[in-house]
Amino acid sequence: MAVIEIKGVAKSFGAFTALHSIDLTIADQEFMVLLGASGCGKTTLLRIIAGLETPSAGEVWIGGRRVDHLPARERGIAMVFQNYAVFPHLTVYENIAFGLRMKKMPQAEVERRVTKTAELMHIEQLLKRYSGQLSGGQRQRVAVARALAMEPDVILMDEPLSNLDALLRLEMRAELKGVLAASKTTTIYVTHDQVEAMSLADRISVMNGGHILQAADPVQVYRNPATRFVGSFIGNPPMNFLPAKAAGDGQWQVAGQTFAGPSAGAAEFAIRPEDLHPAEQGIPAEVRVVEPLGPHTLVTCVADGHPFRVILDSTLTPIPGDRLHLAPLQDRIRWFDPETQKALT
Ligand code: ATP
Repeated sequence: MAVIEIKGVAKSFGAFTALHSIDLTIADQEFMVLLGASGCGKTTLLRIIAGLETPSAGEVWIGGRRVDHLPARERGIAMVFQNYAVFPHLTVYENIAFGLRMKKMPQAEVERRVTKTAELMHIEQLLKRYSGQLSGGQRQRVAVARALAMEPDVILMDEPLSNLDALLRLEMRAELKGVLAASKTTTIYVTHDQVEAMSLADRISVMNGGHILQAADPVQVYRNPATRFVGSFIGNPPMNFLPAKAAGDGQWQVAGQTFAGPSAGAAEFAIRPEDLHPAEQGIPAEVRVVEPLGPHTLVTCVADGHPFRVILDSTLTPIPGDRLHLAPLQDRIRWFDPETQKALT
């Protein structure tokens, strides 16, 4: 059982606080993605779990054992980091075999694991090459193969696909997902790519400014963002927000339209671009930019003086200057507290 428990972990670099008291439990065999913009603290958190950084406060437990005072090599984890330390003077084969040889594994088993993981990462034709002669993307795949070959209980990965071109990245993403699910590994995976996060994760922890704002399954995070930031960070284009005026009895005026909402003192209205459709009645919006994207059309409008995006069926082709009425799907409307920025129900 490789449950990972992070208890009150904080990290300061001098006067700067990179992590504010983080509490997070990653279940045995769970695939947890840490998602956030550059500088939010995700790499720092991963390095603390790995043992490459000491926390300023808090505890890290892996498999029921407190590990924050143990050196990295005693924590029973495999890692793939951004600077993927692949040894240039070793062949790809020996790089992948490295950890297995350290463990004095019999040659037949080394052979089996190296071949298997190399095939998975599509580098079987490179096994005899020296790693110093590889491209960045190839080296990155060697680093992932080396970690997978250990068949670890816990694997930590920091942007392991960042150097691959778009198509290969898509392919590797699916391979990784399959392999890690089958191997029953507990995984923590850092990325700033929300599509990668949505595709891979059992749960996503959305981070900002050294805090975890929400840790939930991808659909929850997308449909029910816990804060305004999560709603605006996840989704491309992001959620639309409009000011709302209380009209009594849980009714709210939004761009001149009335909607049922929370019984709160103040609220902001939010809706995803794909959750509106042109109708007789709805939020009045003036079209500014029309972008046909193949399967659908992205239309940027102005509603109530605010930018407002809507994704329409590709058969609908408004032109700049058109005035639309956009009716939201009632059950997709979300509300946020303008002060705390937290979701209201
Ligand atoms: P990225 O996606 O760019 O790697 P990140 O979310 O992983 O970003 P971290 O690398 O965890 O971010 O860094 C969090 C914050 O802590 C950043 O503002 C960074 O500048 C700061 N930081 C990280 N390491 C140090 C250090 N050794 N000394 C000082 N500040 C640091």
